[in-house]
Amino acid sequence: MAHCAEILAVGTELLLGNIVNTNAQELSQELAKLGINVFWHTVVGDNPERLREAVRIARGRADIILTTGGLGPTYDDLTKQTISAAFGRKLVLHPEVAEEIRKIFESRFQGPMPENNLRQAELPEGCVVLPNPVGTAPGCAFEQDGVHVLMLPGPPAEMRAMLDAGAIAYLRRLSQEVIVSRDIMTFGMGESAVEELLRARMERMENPTLATYARPSEVRLRATAKASTVREAEAMLDPVVEEVQARLGNIVYGVDVKGLEYACVSLLKERNWTLATAESCTGGRMAARMTAMPGVSAVYRGGVVSYWTSVKGAVLGVPAEILEQYGAVSEPTARAMAEGARRITGAEAALSVTGVAGPDRDERGVEVGVVYVGLAVPEGTFCRRLRLGNRRRELLQDLSANHAFDLLRRYLSGLDLKE
Ligand code: ATP
Ligand code: MG
Repeated sequence: MAHCAEILAVGTELLLGNIVNTNAQELSQELAKLGINVFWHTVVGDNPERLREAVRIARGRADIILTTGGLGPTYDDLTKQTISAAFGRKLVLHPEVAEEIRKIFESRFQGPMPENNLRQAELPEGCVVLPNPVGTAPGCAFEQDGVHVLMLPGPPAEMRAMLDAGAIAYLRRLSQEVIVSRDIMTFGMGESAVEELLRARMERMENPTLATYARPSEVRLRATAKASTVREAEAMLDPVVEEVQARLGNIVYGVDVKGLEYACVSLLKERNWTLATAESCTGGRMAARMTAMPGVSAVYRGGVVSYWTSVKGAVLGVPAEILEQYGAVSEPTARAMAEGARRITGAEAALSVTGVAGPDRDERGVEVGVVYVGLAVPEGTFCRRLRLGNRRRELLQDLSANHAFDLLRRYLSGLDLKE
């Protein structure tokens, strides 16, 4: 029987909006990997009656309940007491747990354990203790009337450590299936066009399944397989990935790659090339995306944010005649910016972006969404003119950066540059 789980986060802070329920996200991701369906996320405050009510509802519809929060030693931490009572289990002192907590106190805080910490050693009778390698409050798991309950601590680092130290192993024993996914990353075609190409295929699929997800400026296709082992699931996914790649062609820039900039870095490394950037309307987004990748210094030399026309001239050496005659948002300027970045950094390749991110036209009346991306390489300089339309400023910036990275990716892969 397939399991279905409910995640029950306990904490008034969550309801007040003081903190975000990242634990639920993390737990959902872990359960997905284990092949356990999560059907509900619930949040309840530090209030015994409402927590009891939430547990009553959860055990009526789920056969795995995971709670986070409220395991600490203070009086507002009431998850253990309330849930144990709801399942009719007594809390009993676990001497070996008490000993463990006492040791942690003595070594970490150089002092005796406060008495209320002893409460942390009280756990439901007959439970499995889930160790907490980075904190004092242990978690626990038990099964009653076909429902498995796992109680995990609220602090995300403690919850993570407890998952790895025992909770995942406990859950894995419950699940007979694993779920494995492959992300096929595309750029250059809208979500509905991608879906159109694959719809007939997608509709026939049950396992693996194929779904499209539109990100701000690109489309991700996720192929997901369920099987009894990871290897079996992977073997089911390989032909699907190949088929999708064959159908979509070179708009696919990678599989399980995090973004276009990652694809660019691999291609640059293959050639032993370095990159520089010259940005106007993207304001350093490309540089930020490059430098967000660890170990990128082998490939990325640096970038210039040349927002003012005078900076395009003085720093990048864009000739004054070009700026006067064609304006800052023009193909000759984009070309000269890329060439300038290449010249001043010594990089083999340089990308440039200049455009109108809005909300208003530029001083020459160039429309919002008109963007030029340039690429200078030893072979010459290339430019793509984009009409991205009147969209949100941020989206235009992301799209422009992606088009620039895509231009480089296409060049380095020997593809048509769609000029
Ligand atoms: P402690 O022993 O620290 O009291 P606890 O298990 O009792 O741990 P809580 O008191 O409920 O947990 O929460 C402690 C902290 O953990 C919160 O202040 C918050 O920073 C973080 N936290 C709690 N629940 C969540 C959640 N669902 N998502 C992300 N962070 C959370
Ligand atoms: Mg607490």
